[in-house]
Amino acid sequence: MAAAPGAGDTSDGEGGRLPQPRDDLRELEGYHSPQLDVHVRLNTNESPYAPPVEFVDRWLGAVRDAELHRYPDRGAVSLRAAIAKQLDQPADRVFCANGSNEVLQTILLTYGGPGRNALIFEPTYALHSHIARITSTGVLDHERGDDFHIDVDAAVARVRAERPAVVFVCSPNNPTGTVEPQSTVRALVDAVAEHRGLLVVDEAYGEFADNTAIDLISDARPLVVVRTYSKVWSLAATRLGFCVAPPAIVAELEKVVLPYHLSVATQLAGTVALDFRDAMLERVAGLVEERGRVFAQLAARGDVEVFPSGANFILMRPHADSHTVWSALVERGVLVRDFSRWPRVEGCLRVTIGTPDENRAFLEALDGVLADMRGGS
Ligand code: PMP
Repeated sequence: MAAAPGAGDTSDGEGGRLPQPRDDLRELEGYHSPQLDVHVRLNTNESPYAPPVEFVDRWLGAVRDAELHRYPDRGAVSLRAAIAKQLDQPADRVFCANGSNEVLQTILLTYGGPGRNALIFEPTYALHSHIARITSTGVLDHERGDDFHIDVDAAVARVRAERPAVVFVCSPNNPTGTVEPQSTVRALVDAVAEHRGLLVVDEAYGEFADNTAIDLISDARPLVVVRTYSKVWSLAATRLGFCVAPPAIVAELEKVVLPYHLSVATQLAGTVALDFRDAMLERVAGLVEERGRVFAQLAARGDVEVFPSGANFILMRPHADSHTVWSALVERGVLVRDFSRWPRVEGCLRVTIGTPDENRAFLEALDGVLADMRGGS
């Protein structure tokens, strides 16, 4: 019998015939961030600190009191109001979802899709292009400069030429740590406004940097700023992210996201966490200080290139085979992220800022590894 149009070899290992995914998804590789069981894990940019014990107690108490047999508040009204208040924004400018990845997905489901493009400044966070592909949004790559900044004139010219539905700016950028000046964000939002496109600024690491595009949000500007509880709030496990956007855009996102997508436990975690803002700011300040210390020590070595960072991680390029450096670090119990074979950041490793002890362990391990490699052992 003839195969259905578009179907390839559908045999599974046991000789059955399973359906094929959409043609445009066939070549897609899943997102991988390998985990290894090592002592010092500095590879996924989480906070090294657990949230305060009092937070956990209050959160669990609130979950215990919740009506678990009922669906959660569909509009996440209390959570949105609390986030908005903290950012000095109106509540109708806030949209929440399960991690900022789900926020990004909802944005692309709403404003991307077949026949539309997303412009992405590479190298950057892999999920921007990945989610674009999943949502059948075309991907337009634009190169960052040698220092990983966006060349604003070239970027504006590209936006005018291609008229992408969505433009992503990641700032601080993952994996480079680069922070874009507000003037770049302003120029790009003006450029997308000319053809009624949307600028999305991914600020997953925004609290570690010294500027934010949230200041530029207004009801009439096509600008969305995405943030997360995964990093600064020490709540990666709860999966909560949000964006700040004009209310008309928030209303469109609400139409697209699945009903009751945000569990009551997640909503309560997000609301209760905000009462521990001082503790969060203290953790952020400590990590920024440690970032400065790690950066200075790496820069002083002379045998690694190190890139300035406004995030809770640092990208570096050892003057030695970096994949070998990565493996030797793992042998010494330190896991960093291996970008050695990534286009545009070839030869690079990315280290998350950890506790002072973890950072010390990393710097000592690196010292030992590079000394061994110089000695040829
Ligand atoms: N944006 C960027 C730039 C990130 O690095 C990450 C996490 N690695 C995310 C978004 C997604 O974070 P989450 O879904 O945990 O909020």
